[in-house]
Amino acid sequence: MKTFLLTLLMIPGLSFAQAVVSARAVVRDAGFNANIKTVQLKHLSSTSRFDGEFFKIVEGKGDEAISLTDADKNLVLRAATTYFHLTKARDYFVEKLNSAYVAGLPKLVIRIEHTNQFNELGHFAHDNLEPQFNNALTIPAGAGIEGRGVKPWEMEIWFRPEKKIHIDDLKIKGGTGMGEWGTVLSAFRQQMHMTSLQRFLSQLVLTQTSDLPTENVIGWENLLRLAGTSLLLETVYRYADPLSKAFSRKWFWLDSALVPEIIYHEYAHVALSDHLVLSHSSAVIEGMADFFAGQIADSSKLATNIKDHNVFNGKKATRKQQYSVQFETSDYANSDFVFGMLWDLRTIVGEAPAPEFVYNLRQKIDTNSTIRKQLIEGILDTCEEQCAQPFVDKLKILQRYNARGI
Ligand SMILES: [Zn+2]
Repeated sequence: MKTFLLTLLMIPGLSFAQAVVSARAVVRDAGFNANIKTVQLKHLSSTSRFDGEFFKIVEGKGDEAISLTDADKNLVLRAATTYFHLTKARDYFVEKLNSAYVAGLPKLVIRIEHTNQFNELGHFAHDNLEPQFNNALTIPAGAGIEGRGVKPWEMEIWFRPEKKIHIDDLKIKGGTGMGEWGTVLSAFRQQMHMTSLQRFLSQLVLTQTSDLPTENVIGWENLLRLAGTSLLLETVYRYADPLSKAFSRKWFWLDSALVPEIIYHEYAHVALSDHLVLSHSSAVIEGMADFFAGQIADSSKLATNIKDHNVFNGKKATRKQQYSVQFETSDYANSDFVFGMLWDLRTIVGEAPAPEFVYNLRQKIDTNSTIRKQLIEGILDTCEEQCAQPFVDKLKILQRYNARGI
């Protein structure tokens, strides 16, 4: 009898191994507006929880997958949105780029509303140690500590809860004018793992009149609230004019688990981690993740904006940048520059082959690669193997880099 009961309990688990469930999630329409729509969640191994073949979505430090019917509807929306877009990102690497590495990855635990800092020995830093908000982070696997209750863990993606920050709390030191806003921006960026894609998203805000959001449409006003402070700060930083208007709210936040491009960016870190290890943030690793976030988003509107406004060679960029040796250090501008360089490869090698080109490029670089040496050598080597006319195309690439002072 006991055995019979156990069997009964196990059968549902097996029969739902490929369950598809409908849920409400944040998605973008053709105009890049964020909407809450009903989507299909694939590869679930349960019809009651966000637990699937490839992803398990948990809250904070928890182990159990979030329930699809949790009373906290905001939690369910974040779980569904991350599950849906992570599945899309994984499909992209497995189906479009034939990544054997991604196909063979163990199931990822995804933590939402998670405030603990990462500790490479203990997994989670102590609860009281400076809780984190308004960002997202991908962590490397760890061995755990036997006897101290720290179990080994695989790679994970953590989404921090949003927290409204008042401009006064950004601790701006004196001064007026753009210098001050530069300080605001850099203070806020310390909260942000993702940098450059936001810069380009901010351009979209400028070209869009604000919709009146209906109940299910997250209009541009709300996108600002979603994609948060960085967008707003960028806008203000670059265009002093709307400053008084934009800052009348004086409150900023980022709900990273509801922004598809942030979800793609984080998953790209996972997908590229066979060569770009997750030891620390660098210009190259961030630029690479942004490139794939832009590709997975698959939005012509976003692509046009990236092309027009990127700081590397965007025709409408308000601040095009020449290469500077300082880009090899920690200045936040450097990943924007790398993102622009990589996106520009679409014009040389073609839009369709560019993702495979950049994906193969990861094999020739690592997390510590410099822009001027290893990244460029890697791009030229990849072109040698993959460009239609390697000699001509390599020359074109070099000319473009020379024009930017590299
Ligand atoms: Zn990143």
